[in-house]
Amino acid sequence: MNRIPFFHVLSPLTLLLGLTFIIACRNSTDPVSPTTNTTAGTTATVGAGVPDVYRKLYGVSEIYLEGTNVVIKAKGLPDHKSPYYKGTSWESTLYVNDTRSGFSANPHRIAGQNYTFKIPLNPQEDAAHAETPLGPIGISLNGVPFFNQYAAGRAPLTMEIYGFDLYGGHPAPMNNYHYHVEPAYLTEKKGQEALLGFLLDGFPVYGPVENGKLVTNKDLDKYHGHMGKTADYPNGIYHYHVTAEDPYINGSGFYGKAGTLSQ
Ligand SMILES: [Zn+2]
Ligand SMILES: [Zn+2]
Repeated sequence: MNRIPFFHVLSPLTLLLGLTFIIACRNSTDPVSPTTNTTAGTTATVGAGVPDVYRKLYGVSEIYLEGTNVVIKAKGLPDHKSPYYKGTSWESTLYVNDTRSGFSANPHRIAGQNYTFKIPLNPQEDAAHAETPLGPIGISLNGVPFFNQYAAGRAPLTMEIYGFDLYGGHPAPMNNYHYHVEPAYLTEKKGQEALLGFLLDGFPVYGPVENGKLVTNKDLDKYHGHMGKTADYPNGIYHYHVTAEDPYINGSGFYGKAGTLSQ
């Protein structure tokens, strides 16, 4: 399955004529630059002025404001069991033998990373709606990054999915563990309607249920979100939802202007 063409209904009167198929163009904006992060640990240091909602990110080491950005540092180590902990220093507590039929582990292992996310403190819509990069597109509550709906080379996830562990994640060749789909450990632990993290553009990501109803792709725009009130943003905010269907977390690009990630 390649990128799904989306249609816009221009108005009810042009229902039959107003189909505009948008083929998203390649717009490489992978913002990678070298940095160092010597911070480690599981208790985050939270700087002055950081809004409370970011304190929900429990798997990160540092959160602070820098100009108009929130800076978040994380190692990206999942706090749940995974078969990809095999042979690592965490193996004794977090390794689990995944015996599900159909599961086929990839050859990589989980290793700590040095992620520094800089995301807008006050996210805004950006008309460019830049395509999401391969690699991290956001950060989840436990510090594990979200990836987009593609495997290497922008291939569909068709085969990769067999390598997703019990909680929907797997490591890439740099042993960087990530989620392309619902982080099932977080929705199990925090609830189906919970805040799950943020994308690089600063907009929040929520679980697959809202007001007691399962969210489907039909409820969302082509970026995989919509405007509305949430528990954390009672005045309303644009937010993404994870859904059970492709594209799972983000659709055809960021809603807002993406911040940066260094690793
Ligand atoms: Zn992957
Ligand atoms: Zn919503």
